[in-house]
Amino acid sequence: MLRAILHTLLLPAISLEAASLPVVAWQEPSSLAAQPDWTALKRYSRSMSRAEFDQAWREFYAPASPELRLPFELDGEALLLPIRPNGQPLAIELKKDNQSPPQRHWRRASELPPLQGRAPLSDLHFTLDPGHLGGPWAQMEERLLQLPGRGEVREGDLTLQVALLLRERLQQLGASVSLLRQSAEPSTTLRPEVLRDEALKLLQQHGIAQPPADDEGLRGEARLLTVRWQSEKLFYRVAEIRERARRVNETLRPDAVLCIHFNAEDWGDPAAPTLSEENHLHVMVNGCYGIEELQQPDVCAEMLHRLLGRVHEEELPLAEAVAAGLAKSSGLPAYVYRRPVAKRVGHSGYVWARNLLANRLYQCPVVYLEPWVMNHAQTFARLQKGHFRGRTLIDGQLQTSILEDYVSGVVNGLLQHYQQHRPRS
Ligand SMILES: [Zn+2]
Repeated sequence: MLRAILHTLLLPAISLEAASLPVVAWQEPSSLAAQPDWTALKRYSRSMSRAEFDQAWREFYAPASPELRLPFELDGEALLLPIRPNGQPLAIELKKDNQSPPQRHWRRASELPPLQGRAPLSDLHFTLDPGHLGGPWAQMEERLLQLPGRGEVREGDLTLQVALLLRERLQQLGASVSLLRQSAEPSTTLRPEVLRDEALKLLQQHGIAQPPADDEGLRGEARLLTVRWQSEKLFYRVAEIRERARRVNETLRPDAVLCIHFNAEDWGDPAAPTLSEENHLHVMVNGCYGIEELQQPDVCAEMLHRLLGRVHEEELPLAEAVAAGLAKSSGLPAYVYRRPVAKRVGHSGYVWARNLLANRLYQCPVVYLEPWVMNHAQTFARLQKGHFRGRTLIDGQLQTSILEDYVSGVVNGLLQHYQQHRPRS
């Protein structure tokens, strides 16, 4: 068995001792997930070469820091998945000689028909994902920022406003556009009350044998270890995104999803939030899986679907183009991660690979946007003015609308990508 080969993916000069390290053991599936259907990966057999697999793994999907353990084995031109406890592992052949590539619903720019005089985004279907929930849910989601005497922002209301403006603009350019949310309300029918058993199980898996039921009277991180807080997070962060993913994958089937967010720096106590000096932009593609994440079988299978399905080959150039559009319209500097949860990809400096639930589950290229820091003083003041065209006086200076800058940056990025890569005739 040429097990040494797999380790050279990450550390070219690895010692022979390290080559005998065990492949990781599977853990339970991630929250609210079922066991994956591993055999679905067979359809990628003979559609990707070993060299292509190695490069995609290294560049996009592998952990940020060198890691000796892997959730799979590579043996010559075979990817071996240890999914059967007592028999042969499932083998995916890493050769590129299959004449009919695996079926998928989304199209690359290069696969679209030529425009022949039609509007520049004709034939494209974009799904817009307005991040979070809005209105009364913002407080539970910890996406409500209030500054006494200066107003408030709710991220989920802002992202919906951007999505509605963006839909109009993209439709004018010929695209068809669907939205994953058109009001402040959740898509999932699950609520925190029915997720309390799952929350308890999760806390117990992390070694908290008897977590407090409620967070009343608790402050800071102690709140995070309560059944109430975890069940709320399972509702808005996990159940909600799983339901949006079901719609993307089973009903909408777009060419790309744009996840619309605003960023924030830690604002501390919500009753007395701190303003940040920082204001920045970054855009995410899927990747940079932690080895613990890959020990969850559903996560590992989803990563392999994205890698073997070559989603990154369209996702990165699309993200780079949108990042360039937003960098120009916002004038914001690039955000830099200080923790190894993400790694920089591409050449713009703005794009990072990170494994988020949305950009892992949506089965098509996903561009995940994080422009502007909401608790930056000038950004906060500009957001109070909402959407307008041109300039208006804010804090004694003539300034543009952040919502307008958001929309025009994304539109220009999309136009750039599809004009550059779409066949001309
Ligand atoms: Zn967000």
